[in-house]
Amino acid sequence: MLQQRGHTSAAPTLVTLHAHPDDEAIYTGGLLLRAATLGWRCVVVVATSGEGGRSPRAAVDIGAHRRAETYAAAKILGVARVEFLGYRDSGMAGDVLPPGALAVAEPAEVVARAQAVLDDEDPDLVVSYDLGGVYGHPDHLAVHRLGRGLSFAGALYEATINRVELAVLRERWLGRGMPEAAWPAGLADTLGMDHPGLVRMEVDRHFARKQSAITAHGSQVVEADSFMGLPPGVFHQLLATEWYYRVRCGGPAVAGLFEDGPAGRDRTVAAPTWPSPS
Ligand SMILES: [Zn+2]
Repeated sequence: MLQQRGHTSAAPTLVTLHAHPDDEAIYTGGLLLRAATLGWRCVVVVATSGEGGRSPRAAVDIGAHRRAETYAAAKILGVARVEFLGYRDSGMAGDVLPPGALAVAEPAEVVARAQAVLDDEDPDLVVSYDLGGVYGHPDHLAVHRLGRGLSFAGALYEATINRVELAVLRERWLGRGMPEAAWPAGLADTLGMDHPGLVRMEVDRHFARKQSAITAHGSQVVEADSFMGLPPGVFHQLLATEWYYRVRCGGPAVAGLFEDGPAGRDRTVAAPTWPSPS
């Protein structure tokens, strides 16, 4: 079901490229849901099995566990095909790189592995990560290079976070009583991009399903809760909006995908309340 090859219908096709299991739900879950709802064929390519993630319990093959979680998430997101490129997670800064780590793989070889999927799918839109890999993880930087190295006729967008909006969010929360120390100024200065042309996409009515897809990555959810050291609640606020940097435009189907229709918001994201300073 999740490994159907090629597409036989005239439906437009979206391929999203990712470094680790759970990235597809966190960065592009809203877009995948919106595309699937509009009849697009959705394909997810994941370069590693996230072996550097938290182990759910002792003596578990983390890679196999996280691949299974990815298939479960893909079902929730309406994804028709999932492909793993077979690299190993490079882990966090300071970790010893395992053999086959994505961060040190030959870029042309990574491109060749993914190109086979693209040749098969002939996508209308490919989505990878911005030039900083959204938050600088070496595997995410490799996925940025991958997106720029592939050959295909369709549009290329890159998932990102709007750094300016993040700063606005911080100011708003400080105004609501968030202690300065909970989110030090500068913490988010390296996340995403500061660019006036970013495409904003509200997850809107797909928000609950996006959250379910993230929850399908049950072994990692605790970490996702404290994303990049941002205070609790910020991560969930971030999930409600997705940002994309447009590298190459596509046809009307791609433009329609990012158009905001009638607001059908059922956002369950509430700003947290902070204890008043004593
Ligand atoms: Zn990742």
